[in-house]
Amino acid sequence: MTKLKSISKISNWFPGIEEPLIIAGPCSAESESQIFKTAKEIAGLGKVKIFRSGIWKPRTRPGNFEGVGEDGLKWLQQVKKEFGFLLAIEVANEEHAELAIKYDIDILWVGARTTSNPFSVQELADSLKGFNKPVLVKNPINPDVNLWVGALERFHKAGVNKLAAVHRGFFPFEATTLRNIPKWEIPIELKSICHTLPIFCDPSHIAGNTVYIPEIAQKALDLNMDGLMIETHYNPNAALSDMNQQLTPGQLGNLIDNLIYRRSTTKDKDFTNVLEALRSQIDSIDQQMLELLSQRMNIVEEIGKFKSQNEVTILQLRRWEKIVDTRMKLGKELGLTGDFIKKLLQLVHKESIQKQTEVMNKLTSSKKKE
Ligand code: PEP
Ligand code: MN
Repeated sequence: MTKLKSISKISNWFPGIEEPLIIAGPCSAESESQIFKTAKEIAGLGKVKIFRSGIWKPRTRPGNFEGVGEDGLKWLQQVKKEFGFLLAIEVANEEHAELAIKYDIDILWVGARTTSNPFSVQELADSLKGFNKPVLVKNPINPDVNLWVGALERFHKAGVNKLAAVHRGFFPFEATTLRNIPKWEIPIELKSICHTLPIFCDPSHIAGNTVYIPEIAQKALDLNMDGLMIETHYNPNAALSDMNQQLTPGQLGNLIDNLIYRRSTTKDKDFTNVLEALRSQIDSIDQQMLELLSQRMNIVEEIGKFKSQNEVTILQLRRWEKIVDTRMKLGKELGLTGDFIKKLLQLVHKESIQKQTEVMNKLTSSKKKE
């Protein structure tokens, strides 16, 4: 059970804050003029209250642009004074946390790499004790919901109750179109572990390229997420980090205007009746699907015994290739996507191999005992 109790609502974080919360600003603070120009154009949209910026940017390998450090905090203070923004920065260690407090930063976020390291998370939680700052915890690099929950719990234990999670996608181990794989099921699982925890989406780091941002942002809202963090730079082509994924303030304005803000629920009787009817069809189909899968597994067990008795290997490549081929064709005819069918078949096949291995091992060990 989660220990995340009495999480503060976003509306209690600051007076007049609206949902969905939009956080925008550059990946990194680069110069005083870059921060000022970007902030001015974002402020001009009249749609964003929270300005983000990375201050420390350790990169995969040293030697590239590594952030401007404390100078950037001074520029941010100016921007706050001039345009009335709330400020959000990433903190990764005790020194960052202390400087964030010193420069009166309003919201702190924990980066994906930091969330992956409980030592760093604990150091941050200890240094933020008693300051009552909202803390946003990005998902860890690897899709481990417990590591994410654990990081949130460390802050919560330190008395931080203005807490939220940020979904920024997961490291892909294969070539992908998106920079990070969304794995939407992980933030959904997090929400079901803690219903009251606000979850934001960072479509910029999921996308890695501006073209995919609108679609991801809309999906996040449709999944009931509570806000968006979007990297925005007055001149992305000259950005020193993440240039491909930063929107211009103009593009950000268009994105915000074109998003559809749907209600999470409605009391409309007709809507509820139709939805209930459709859901009961889904319930019945799911039951049939599970019964069929169970029947399939029973047959797999039979096959396992049969192969074992005849000393034949579990994997029969030709048969597997034929299954993929015929089912892909059928699935497509039925309007299912190739990617979905392939994943489904792989999952079923993996479970079948597992079942047959169990059967074979059992038979072999009882034979040995004889
Ligand atoms: C960022 O927000 O600039 C950043 C570094 O994000 P992440 O920790 O998600 O990679
Ligand atoms: Mn970035």
